[in-house]
Formats: sequence, structure tokens, C-alpha cells
Amino acid sequence: MSKVIFFTDQRKAPGLSPALARLPLPGEPLLDTRERPLRDLRISVTDRCNFRCTYCMPRDVFDKHHEFLPHRDLLTFEEIAAAARVFVAMGVRKIRLTGGEPLLRRNIETLVALLAELRTPEGDKPELTLTTNGSLLARKAQALKDAGLDRVTVSMDALDADVFARMSDSDFPVTQVLEGIEAAAAAGLTPVKINMVVRKGVNDDQIVPMARHFRGSGHILRFIEYMDVGSTNGWNMAEVVPSADVVARLAQVWPLRALHDEGMGRVAERWAYADGAGEVGVISSVTHAFCGGCTRARLSPEGRLFLCLFATQGHDLRALIRGGADETRLAQALAGIWQARGDNYSEHRADAGADPRATGEHKIEMSYIGG
Ligand code: SAM
Ligand code: SF4
Ligand code: SF4
Repeated sequence: MSKVIFFTDQRKAPGLSPALARLPLPGEPLLDTRERPLRDLRISVTDRCNFRCTYCMPRDVFDKHHEFLPHRDLLTFEEIAAAARVFVAMGVRKIRLTGGEPLLRRNIETLVALLAELRTPEGDKPELTLTTNGSLLARKAQALKDAGLDRVTVSMDALDADVFARMSDSDFPVTQVLEGIEAAAAAGLTPVKINMVVRKGVNDDQIVPMARHFRGSGHILRFIEYMDVGSTNGWNMAEVVPSADVVARLAQVWPLRALHDEGMGRVAERWAYADGAGEVGVISSVTHAFCGGCTRARLSPEGRLFLCLFATQGHDLRALIRGGADETRLAQALAGIWQARGDNYSEHRADAGADPRATGEHKIEMSYIGG
């Protein structure tokens, strides 16, 4: 099958499920079939990126022939804000902008300002964060803060220049990502979190140097298990470094103490340096599934709603929005979709047939939905 057709196909997933749900009463959480409330919304604002991380956008697939979404297909900032307003009314307390590379979307701070105006039913501002590769952060950090962004997470997979270049498959200097991190901290987008995806034999020699660099900085480094998202990265379990190994390697150098605050929606396991130099985290998406506490919905750049990172089909919210649906209609649609949700892919990853590819379906790509 041609690689281009495959991406086009998945975006043509069927439209909204016709189910129309009972809206929860005020103060009542919107729950899915596994009693999980809707709490987090990730909004992917573009499927484009200036990096070609080998685990996310392998260059031989995302090459000059790859068809990215045309701009007219993307939700406008006003459409995104209108959708987000409904999500917040239905229980979302945290919004994360992502991509592709979200800072490539022109005037992204205008969207941040629109989202910063939203209020929960209790009158609070939802937490507003953004995940970025850091390449444009030094330039943008202050404008993002001024627009109302609360925090940023920066993806950085190595301190060593050569390993960084190999992981990101770009010639962008890692020193400029570090400058972006410091600019974010200086602007008050704190605590800055740093996400490092670990691939065995590619960048696992960077675990200790990264920890050494960020210890005591106030930034929070988190190690992420390499996941089988999408269908293009040729994922292989042999390349996963289990979080337990990461923690063991760190603990050989610095004594660690477990921090316990796990609750619904938390994904990172947190560890404090016993000497008080801050904390590190591990995200064990592969070896320790956290589907039971998964409270996330994901909105794609052209307005498809996905309920799991490993979904093959989304629900077309853009059709509703552009069709003139009012907030009540959008809320009913969202309630119906969430109440029917039963996703728990990571709990069944190892089962024969759990992979949608076994039935000829294609998982969405990380660069499209944004993690
Ligand atoms: N471009 C931005 C960035 O890199 O931070 C935002 C989008 S990126 C898709 C979001 C996050 O997904 C990044 O932290 C990236 O490292 C992570 N990611 C992408 N592919 C992954 C994979 N196969 N396994 C684990 N994490 C992955
Ligand atoms: Fe781009 Fe982020 Fe994917 Fe890397 S992980 S290719 S920076 S979208
Ligand atoms: Fe959530 Fe799906 Fe990941 Fe499970 S596999 S934690 S349901 S996104």
C-alpha cells in the first residue's frame, strides 16, 4: 500500500456517531464506560514539523512527497476555541497544545489568548500548557506567557550534539533547545518539563548525562518509554528501555526517593533526588499501562476527536462546527462520544490481535495527533 494513501485514508474516518447522550447534570462528571471522567484535552494545531525524529516522523515517509493537511482543512483558532469551550464545560481542566510542532502554527499566541479566556463551571481558568521541540521557544516564550500560557514541556532526547542530531534527524543545534528551555523558565512558564524518549542503543547512553544536566535546575526531566504509536516508525519491543531500568541506572548514581501522588489522569511516576536536587519522572506507557486513569481526549488539526492514542478512527467535530451546531448540540455530541468510550489499548498491547494493523486498520501518527 502506498504510504500517501494510508495517511489520507485514516483522515477519512467516518463521521460522528449518531448517539445523542443525556448531558450530565451540573456538577456531575461526564464518565466513559470505564468510569473515567473527561479531564484533559490535547489539541494538535498542525501536522507539520521542522524535525524528523526517527521514532515519530521518519524522513523516508515524511519526505517531500508526503501530503500534509492543507491550511483550509485546519480548524481556525476561533473554531478551536469554540470546541474547547464545550470541552471545558463538560469537565476538561487542562488543555495542552501540541502537533506536529505547535510553534510552527503562525500566531499561536493568539490561540493561547483565546483559550486563556475560558473558565470552568467553577469559574477557574483551565491549566494551559504546550509541548514543543523547543526550536522556536527562545523567540516565543515571552509572547506565550503574556498570552496566558501557564507551562511548557520541551522534548529533548539527548545532550550530546551528535546523538541529538541522530534522534531528531535534523541539524538544529541542541544548544538552541537549551536556550529555549532557559527562556521559558525566565518567562515564568514553570516548572519546565523536559521529555526524553529513550531508545535502546540509540540514546540510552544519555540518561545519566541528561539527569546530571537538569538536576538542581528546577526543571523536571521525564524519561518516556518508546511507544508503538502510529505505523511508520517500525517500533520494536527490543528498543524499549523499561522505566524500571532507567530508575535503576539513575539510582546507581544518585539515591532516589519515590514520590506518591498518583491519581486519575497522572501518567508519570515521580522520584525525588534524596539530596534535594529536585525530581525526575518516568512514563511507562509500554511496561505499565495507565489506561485505567486515562482522562484524555485528543483533537486533531482538522477537528477530529480521538479518544485514544492508538485509535484508528476519529469523530468529525469540524463537520458539526462548520455545520452551525450550537454549544448544546456540540455538548450532546461530545457527551455521546465520551460515554461510549471504552479504550484501553495499552492494557492489551501484548495480546494477539490487539494491534489494529492485524485487522488492516491504521493507527494515527503521533505527528498528527500529538501525544
Ligand atoms: N513537536 C512537539 C514535541 O516534539 O514536543 C510536540 C508533538 S510530539 C508528537 C509530542 C511528544 O510525543 C514528544 O514529547 C515526543 O517525544 C513524543 N513522541 C513522539 N513519538 C513517540 C513515540 N513513538 N514514543 C514515545 N513518545 C513519542
Ligand atoms: Fe516533530 Fe515532535 Fe515528532 Fe519530533 S516528536 S518529529 S519534534 S512532532
Ligand atoms: Fe489512554 Fe489509549 Fe493510552 Fe490507554 S492506550 S492510556 S486509553 S491513550
